[in-house]
Amino acid sequence: MGIIKNMNKTKKKLILFDIDGTLITAGGAGTRSLNLAFHALFNIEDAFNGITMAGKTDIQIIKEGLGTHGFSMDGNVKKMTEIYLHFLQNEINNPMKKIKPGIKEALDLLRTMEMPIGLLTGNLEGGARIKLDPFRLNEYFIDGAFGSDHEDRDELLPIAIEKFSRKGFSFIPKECIVVGDTPRDVRCAKVHGARCIAVATGPYSKEDLLTTEADIVLDSLIETEKVVNLLGKL
Ligand SMILES: [Mg+2]
Repeated sequence: MGIIKNMNKTKKKLILFDIDGTLITAGGAGTRSLNLAFHALFNIEDAFNGITMAGKTDIQIIKEGLGTHGFSMDGNVKKMTEIYLHFLQNEINNPMKKIKPGIKEALDLLRTMEMPIGLLTGNLEGGARIKLDPFRLNEYFIDGAFGSDHEDRDELLPIAIEKFSRKGFSFIPKECIVVGDTPRDVRCAKVHGARCIAVATGPYSKEDLLTTEADIVLDSLIETEKVVNLLGKL
């Protein structure tokens, strides 16, 4: 376990994980729940068809759906989020949901090294917790920044830093590493000068991600020790 010894000598980093496409796939539970919520409120089927979601915040997606169908935001955003979370509780119980390869091992190793790890996700906090629960991943993440904290993903990194500072961890942006699967994950790190590892385990290929400003692009997080070693070098 030489790698752990080496890492303990380096200054700690705050590692912030995206959820969908990075830690897990929810098996379409998010999209189905949004469509079900829209149908329950407005009697329109498949309202979110054609709206790209990867890397966006839930509020952003809900507003796009409302706008596309000509509904006002007033009051409807809040109603949609509540009904969405209600449906998500059921929809997450589907056979297509999966944890991404290497995730559990990487999180266990980071925990052994006492690296602070958090979430940086477009999901509402309630939705994030619902999606992680079947995989028992919530216990790894003491805090994070969520789509319920701000609808613009680019605003989330400082929020994560602030929340961790309240827990006694002091970090500046360049000591943070965002791990995510879309160009939006890369951008929300880079606008603040943070580091970013992009993983091609979501809808974007390695070639797509190589065109972004990501510091490192990986096929997956499956080679746990290599990944953790890279995290220490960033
Ligand atoms: Mg993602």
